[in-house]
Amino acid sequence: MRNIIVIGGGAAGMMAAVAAAKNGAAVTLLEKNEKLGNNIYITGKGRCNLTNACGREEFFAHLVHNPRFLYSSFAAFDNTAMMSLLEDAGLELKTERGNRVFPASDKASDVTKTLAGLLEKYRVKVRLNTEVKGLILEDGCGDGKDGEKAGQTRRCAGVMTAAGPLYADAVIAATGGLSYPSTGSTGDGYRFAKEAGHKVTALYPALVPFNAKLSSGLPIGSLQGLSLKNIEIFVTKSGSEKVLYREFGEMLFTHFGVSGPVILHLSSAVAEVIAKGPLNLRIDLKPALSDEQLKARLEREFEAAPNKTLAVVMRKLLPAALVEPVLAGQKLAGTTVVSRIGEDVKKRIVKALRSLEAELTSLRGFGEAVITQGGVNVKEIDPKTMASKLVKDLYFAGEVLDVDGYTGGYNLQIAWTTGAAAGRAAAQEDKETRREKMNRSIAIDGPAGAGKSTLAKTLAKELGMIYVDTGAMYRAMAVHFLRKGLTGDDEAGICAACEDAQVEIRYEDGAQQVILNGENVTGLLRAEEVGSMASASSVYGPVRSRMVALQQELAHKTPVVMDGRDIGTVVLPDAKLKIYLTASVQERARRRANELREKGQEVDLATIERDIEERDFRDMNRPIGPLKQAEDAHLVDSSDMTIQEVIDTIRRLYEG
Ligand code: C5P
Repeated sequence: MRNIIVIGGGAAGMMAAVAAAKNGAAVTLLEKNEKLGNNIYITGKGRCNLTNACGREEFFAHLVHNPRFLYSSFAAFDNTAMMSLLEDAGLELKTERGNRVFPASDKASDVTKTLAGLLEKYRVKVRLNTEVKGLILEDGCGDGKDGEKAGQTRRCAGVMTAAGPLYADAVIAATGGLSYPSTGSTGDGYRFAKEAGHKVTALYPALVPFNAKLSSGLPIGSLQGLSLKNIEIFVTKSGSEKVLYREFGEMLFTHFGVSGPVILHLSSAVAEVIAKGPLNLRIDLKPALSDEQLKARLEREFEAAPNKTLAVVMRKLLPAALVEPVLAGQKLAGTTVVSRIGEDVKKRIVKALRSLEAELTSLRGFGEAVITQGGVNVKEIDPKTMASKLVKDLYFAGEVLDVDGYTGGYNLQIAWTTGAAAGRAAAQEDKETRREKMNRSIAIDGPAGAGKSTLAKTLAKELGMIYVDTGAMYRAMAVHFLRKGLTGDDEAGICAACEDAQVEIRYEDGAQQVILNGENVTGLLRAEEVGSMASASSVYGPVRSRMVALQQELAHKTPVVMDGRDIGTVVLPDAKLKIYLTASVQERARRRANELREKGQEVDLATIERDIEERDFRDMNRPIGPLKQAEDAHLVDSSDMTIQEVIDTIRRLYEG
């Protein structure tokens, strides 16, 4: 089972955790706040506009940056999939104007609750108040040789928290953006990405109001609270005619400038441009009427009240607060009596109604932005899986990526889609990756007493790999069988007892510890009777299959030097280097006798020889996983070699 850490309990993080756990991973979700789903409250004014129920084309038309990046992940998990997921989990939804989808209850907290329910259902471990300080990156697992992907030399092995390191098979960074820092989104993910070697594009607040001033010089604050419907905006660079953006809709004046739907959209479209200098905003207050229609309308109003001033009559066409700024735009005097207004001036009035102008000076800050524009450069991310192309076992999801959309539920859908893709992919390590890890491992097989463990330990230390003594695992099982009073020939008893033996491997100061049902039994394993029971019980299928699975799991996590009897043939058939280490029975018996004498034990060489021969015979002739030299293994006979000579020989083979 894959162990996965998800950083961030917002929309993307919760989705990633659910998807990973649903795909069979053991998932831990780390959130630095005291509750989940903080960014879910921001959209739809606290009601959570969780997605948009539009079709695919329209969805992509509403994305601002890198829509293509989302093609394949959206195909795998789109807006309808998200709606089904929530509805199947018991959340009722409703679709409003503009295909905006909300929870029927209008409560954002219901969306969070539903997702939290799924986290519980799939047994995701949620750790709140847990801040991640950084990623744990391991260097040097690939050099482009032997089929490894060139350049991909680092892997993410876990995260660092205040309470210490947490290790995992994969990490998903779903840390959100810089917007709404009050939700805990402080941009940690961008730092993690940079530390991992990723490029982060320039970050801008988006879906955010603008600071602005009226071009007429009148204070914009006097229009505060005025909302305009059915207007059209045109945006140009100061001093340029080229329209950068135009949109029809609704906007709002505030004490500092402009806001409202078309303005928020505008902010997403021009965030980068305005960072370089102010822009000009022209508001057409009557976009539905042609110049002729507008002039005719004006004349009707003038005829109805010929003795009134222009300022008074204009109130029939505009909100009162706008009359002065609109007339000022064309330097028209509001005090002129309308019956005296000639053709030229009428044209200027029409023009004035089409051009209430303001200078957009800057965007308001991240504190008021719904989203952050910019983020982890998507060129360095696999669009199908959200996996980093630079660091293995690292994934990104949600706002931390350089993908964003307009308001209307699109940004949350980006979080759901990328979260689902990352979670699914992180849970399913591909066969290729497993093989790659195994490909770096060394398998050492051979009969007892040939010097395998000394060799394996030394090699592991010198090459910075982990040593796995598989014999010790069979010995731990043997302890279990002996404690149950079983004998080696009791096949049924041993196979049944196998069921309730849980063997685990841990490392303390680099030394392997074997844990049997929670108890560290390392100190008991070398006893003679344990060795005999291990040899006898290891012939049975259920014992072997349990041990082989555990050994393969260890080698999937990290490259190992593993010794045993069936490592090159069964456990690690793709090992980078296979050694079959042997020595004559006499020599092995002599070594064993010396070992025992050093411990102060009486020895009889002939008995030891017989014992070794018996064990060899049993190991070599059992039907399952017998001891034999793999076809591609190097045969090393250590009978006349010192241990140092053996080590030097094998290092040469490994390096060569
Ligand atoms: O290597 P060691 O002597 O500690 O192994 C104990 C016993 O476990 C061996 O006699 C062998 O029968 C069994 N074994 C095995 N397959 C392995 C490792 C050990 O069958 N991979």
